[in-house]
Order: sequence, then structure tokens, then C-alpha cells
Amino acid sequence: MEIRILGAHVTEAADARPTSLVIDDILALDAGSLCSGLSIRSQRNLKAVLITHYHYDHVKDLPMIGMNFASYGCLDVYGIESVLEALSTHLLDGKLYPDFRQWPDSQPSLKFIKLDEYERITISGYSVMPVPVPHGVPTVGFHVTSPLGKSVFFTGDTAGGLEGCWEHIFPDLLITEMSWPQSMEAWAKKTTHLSPQVLKADLLEFRRLKGYLPRTVLIHLDPARESEVAAEVAEIARELDASIVLGREGMLVSV
Ligand SMILES: [Zn+2]
Ligand SMILES: [Zn+2]
Repeated sequence: MEIRILGAHVTEAADARPTSLVIDDILALDAGSLCSGLSIRSQRNLKAVLITHYHYDHVKDLPMIGMNFASYGCLDVYGIESVLEALSTHLLDGKLYPDFRQWPDSQPSLKFIKLDEYERITISGYSVMPVPVPHGVPTVGFHVTSPLGKSVFFTGDTAGGLEGCWEHIFPDLLITEMSWPQSMEAWAKKTTHLSPQVLKADLLEFRRLKGYLPRTVLIHLDPARESEVAAEVAEIARELDASIVLGREGMLVSV
């Protein structure tokens, strides 16, 4: 299984894109940079996109990829009820741009499919399970297992306190978020995002429960704070004797 990181940041700039990952070129996780990070041909190669939650930086390319599938095919969009509801009433309500669930008439280019928490489904041979994680709005992480049995857990955005998740998953690779350094812990807490010491506590709990630590990649980085975060994360990786690295646009992670 190969995971391509299209967007590894909390925001967008000339050298930074918001959250999107693609597994084996066909299964996308979050839509922060599906268009800005992929050629038209690669976009049209996708079979499905799974959305962790409805915050703008995770859904912003959905209208444009709807346009790129128009008169070509249909992309399946999976999300829990709150995600599909928010997309239907705001981003894809047909006001500023077509409602791609109904347009073009001949073949709408997006199809919404509702997921239930902990419901295991199969998409193009991959087993997918949404697992709720703590964040400011309803959010699920996705545990994805390849046909060959390799697995990744992507948390989406989270405040941490993930011990409730750990019992449901057994990933070879963990992809989670780290926007800000420890000095901004109060801000991270207020905005329900991880901070380095909360990540460390969550990883220690994982190891206590599971007896191992998966390789860990951190995205959702703040471009202005990246070097501070990198130094603090390197220290935690040393303390835990674990592989924890920062993601970047274009990075390919093999599992
Ligand atoms: Zn976010
Ligand atoms: Zn969020």
C-alpha cells in the first residue's frame, strides 16, 4: 500500500496545501487538495473520497473535483451524516456552483454515501472503518486495510485523548495531525487540536494497550511553526524510540 500525501498543512499557500491523502492512487482521504495536488488524469482515476469532517480545509476541493468529473464519470463521496448534511446545505447546495449530486442531468458527477461509526465497508477491495475521534465537530478517523492486509489509521483532525480509538484499530501506519508547538498548547486545546505532549501521552497509551508503536506521520502543519514542531517531535521520537516524522506535500509512504 502506498500513501501519497497531497496536502500536509493546515492552510494553503504557494508551498503548502490543506489535508488530502491518496491510497494507491484510487482511494482519497479528505479533499483539502485533491484538485491542487493531482493532475486531471489522476483525479479521474480516483474511485472514492472519504471525508473525516466538514471543516473547510478538509472539503474545499469537492466542488472543483465535481466539475472535473462532469461528463466523465461519478466520484463516490463517503462521510458520516453530519458531513453529508453540511456539504448538502452549504458547499454543494447549488447556489455558487452546480449541485454535483444532481448535475449534469445525464450523470451527476458526485454521489454521497453515508457511513456509520464503526461500520466496516469495502471499497475497491479495501476494508474501511470510520472510528470517532475527539474534535470540535463530529469527526471520524479512517482505518483502511489493503487487500494484502496492510493498514493505516488516519485520524483527521483531533484534540487527542485517543485511547477510545486504540482498542478498535491495529495499524501498520498512523497518520495524525500536529499544527502547533508545545508553547501553543492552550490554543491547540481551545481549537481541539493535538499538541506534542498530548500526542506523546496518546502514543504511550497505544504502546501500553497494543505492545507496539506504528510508524507515525504528522500533517496539518502550520507553515509558520513547522521548524519548532519538528524539533519537539524529534525529541519525542527519541524519548519513545519511535519513528515519528513530519509529512510534506508529495511524500510517498509505503506500508
Ligand atoms: Zn483541519
Ligand atoms: Zn477540523
